[in-house]
Amino acid sequence: MKVDYHLHLEEGPYSFRWLDRTNQALNHFHPLDEKPHTIEWIKKSEIRISNRLNKGCYSEEWLDLYLQESLTKGIKEVGIVDHLYRFHETRSYYEKYMDVTSSDLGALQQKWLDQVMTESIFDFVETINKAKERWQKKGVVLRLGIESDYFPGCEEDLKKLLSMVEWDYIIGSVHFLKGWGFDNPETQDRFESMDLLKTYEDFFEVVEMAIRSELFDFVAHLDNLKVFNHRPDEKELFPLYQKIAKALVQTDTATEINAGLFYRYPVQEMCPSPMFLSVLADHGVVFTLSSDSHFPDDLGKHVSDNLLTLKKLGYTELVTFNKRKRVMKPIQ
Ligand SMILES: [Zn+2]
Ligand SMILES: [Zn+2]
Repeated sequence: MKVDYHLHLEEGPYSFRWLDRTNQALNHFHPLDEKPHTIEWIKKSEIRISNRLNKGCYSEEWLDLYLQESLTKGIKEVGIVDHLYRFHETRSYYEKYMDVTSSDLGALQQKWLDQVMTESIFDFVETINKAKERWQKKGVVLRLGIESDYFPGCEEDLKKLLSMVEWDYIIGSVHFLKGWGFDNPETQDRFESMDLLKTYEDFFEVVEMAIRSELFDFVAHLDNLKVFNHRPDEKELFPLYQKIAKALVQTDTATEINAGLFYRYPVQEMCPSPMFLSVLADHGVVFTLSSDSHFPDDLGKHVSDNLLTLKKLGYTELVTFNKRKRVMKPIQ
């Protein structure tokens, strides 16, 4: 059974590149008749993009493009998980744990946070819950999730924030190391001067803490620190991979094969890497599948390939979630 448990409806920062990508997504579903780059084409595109901007990412129209793509690709269960940092209600949480000091990094990250934190969590939740029945009638199960950032020491604050809503599942992610959002392309030069092995040790320590916090139904993209292709000799990471696998098994926490870095970032590799995946499989860690798509046309991307990968490793079941309960579904 094909599932995609890690999808986003929208993500800033808002730029002309973002407009262009949004236009591409709209065009995927409703291609314009006009020839590209003609005056008629740009006028029509502008009307279409304005409509999307005015109605916002929580309109039925936008959400149902995800449904349409699920039906095209035969995806039976879809989990939408916007980032926790999208929501005004979480500002004090992020400002407490991210570096938003007056340093260069802090100022850049404060600007970023202001650009991406544009919505209310309750609008998001209402949109997904309202759509569940409509999707069900078309044969696709829709689940409400959230991708929340883990920071060392955040447990009580995060628990309080997450308890505002009844989720189908909660994803824990590590996107920050000592307050630094390492997947932000604007800060990637920081990798150049780092001791990579030490940085990976620090990173996996935080990932292990996230797993052991037991706040999460699954922990996402376990090795996303590789995003810009900075990684020591992978053999050196083997003991760290084993530690993570053990933590997942001991806490009965799931993870995912996430295609996001494969098709959207310089590293062009799934998370986890093939070596990491085989360590996790040896330990019997359980998986769900995800495209980590930020646009409806990318929904389900590489889910079929990754399903096959799991099958080859001997898996017969996938992890899905309903009201914070794990439900195993046959792969076939
Ligand atoms: Zn993520
Ligand atoms: Zn994500």
